[in-house]
Parts: sequence; C-alpha cells; structure tokens
Amino acid sequence: MARKRTGTSKSALVFGGSRGIGAAIVSRLVADGYAVAFTYAASTDSAHRLVEEIDAGGGEAVAIRADSADPAAIRTAAIKAHEHLGTLDVVVVNAGIMRLGTIEATSLDDLDLMIDVNVRGVFLAIQASLPHIADGGRVMTIGSCVAIRTGFPGSSVYQFTKAAVAAMVKGLALDLAPRRITINNLQPGPTDTDINAGALEALSDKSPLKRVADPAEIAGLISYLARDEARYMTGTSLTIDGGFTL
Ligand code: NDP
Repeated sequence: MARKRTGTSKSALVFGGSRGIGAAIVSRLVADGYAVAFTYAASTDSAHRLVEEIDAGGGEAVAIRADSADPAAIRTAAIKAHEHLGTLDVVVVNAGIMRLGTIEATSLDDLDLMIDVNVRGVFLAIQASLPHIADGGRVMTIGSCVAIRTGFPGSSVYQFTKAAVAAMVKGLALDLAPRRITINNLQPGPTDTDINAGALEALSDKSPLKRVADPAEIAGLISYLARDEARYMTGTSLTIDGGFTL
C-alpha cells in the first residue's frame, strides 16, 4: 500500500506502526508535518485503516509489510521508505513483542523470537535506514522501563532485550555522531495497548499516578526528540513511566 509524496517537507520511518504506541507515533509525526512510512507484520487491517485515516486528514502515510524478525524484509522496507519519501529525517524503531514466561516455561522459539525482534531487529532497522537518513537526523528506539526494574516473575527475557536496547544506543550514538545523527531510547511504563490486554487495571493500581499511559503521551516525547531544540541529546534512555519504577 503506498502513497506518493506530495510535497511535505519532512519525512519519517516508523518500524512497527500499525497499532498501539507505534500508531500513535505515526499519527503524531503526521500532525507535526512529516510524511511517514511505517512497517507492520500481522495487522494488515489496522495498517490500512491508519493510512486511510491519515489520508482523510490530509496527511501522507505509507504502510510497508515487513517482519522485524526477517533481516531481508527490514532492508527492503528501508529502501521502499526511501523510494516513497526520499531522505529520512527521523527513524523510530518501535516494533517489539512481549512473551512472558518463567525460565522453566520459556521455549527456545520464544527466546529466539524476542531476541530477533526486540534486539537484532532494532539494530538491523537502524543499520538499514542509515544510508537514507539525513545528516543531522534523528533515531529513536522504544525500550521499556523494565530495563530499570521489572518487579514480576516471567519477564526476564523481555527485560534483558530492553536492557540491550538501552546499551545499544550508547554505542550507536558514538557511531552516528560524526554525521550529527542523534539516537535516544524511550523507556515507557505501562501503556494502554494490546500488549497489556487484561492487565491494565492491575498495572494502574501499581502505578503512583493510578493510571497507565496513553500512547499519545509516549508519542509526545518522540515529537520533542524530533525537534531541532533536542539536537544536543544523544545516547540516552528517557524513562516515561508515571513513576512506575520509583
Ligand atoms: P502492541 O502489541 O500494541 O503493538 C506492537 C506494534 O509492533 C504493532 O504495530 C506490531 O505490528 C508491531 N510489531 C510487532 N512485532 C513485529 C514484527 N515482528 N515486525 C514488524 N512489526 C512488529 O505493543 P505496544 O504498542 O504496547 O508496544 C510498542 C513498543 O513499546 C514495543 O517495543 C514494546 O515492547 C514497547 N513498550 C510497551 C509498553 C506498554 O505498556 N504497552 C511499555 C514499555 C515498552 P503488527 O501487529 O502488524 O505485527
């Protein structure tokens, strides 16, 4: 599914933009004046609906099917985004999965898939996008507050994948600095998305503010990091969790 660019000045690529936090980031970047390409893996209907909504609102969006567990698909997605939008100003790597299970209950397939999507997929998405990002551009990753503290059993694999992302951006910040490209990692707390289906009430109870985040609140921080005034921030992880990890 594709729309040709019609003159919007800034462009962005969001890996994992069909639902939840990723969809909120896509919508926010469009509202901020970006033409946005985003990837999805399974949620074809949601991806199509999002493009239609953006289209109806006068914005520009392109949905690209690309499984973040598949290195070739990631590379192709970056090339397609560049073909549609030209040089990219902003890349956000949001695609992530959570399979909870204690160490006894974790299968090798689940372990590999979480590493492939949440860690390898993040690195490869940035690597594939890099030739298409403007000097001075912005890269953001979506980690998680569980990189700091998890507090519940069965989260070890998800937790270490998100801790790996926080570590990854530090080294990448140094790799990207010569081109003045910054990279920062957002660590959301519990947010109202499908990933927390069935757990929202319990998570709200555990939160100091007695609620979970709205995806738009996470997208607001992406919007800030994309701005020129955020240009001196790089290699850092920003936790936005309503005090959940305090
Ligand atoms: P959702 O499950 O609601 O959405 C996940 C998004 O990522 C979807 O657009 C999905 O697309 C995409 N995605 C998942 N797997 C792949 C894949 N293999 N290839 C391409 N795209 C993929 O999750 P959230 O919105 O809640 O989470 C988004 C990010 O935020 C994740 O990295 C998550 O770990 C992180 N996070 C979430 C928190 C929360 O409380 N919600 C808290 C902290 C961090 P599709 O459906 O098309 O596969």
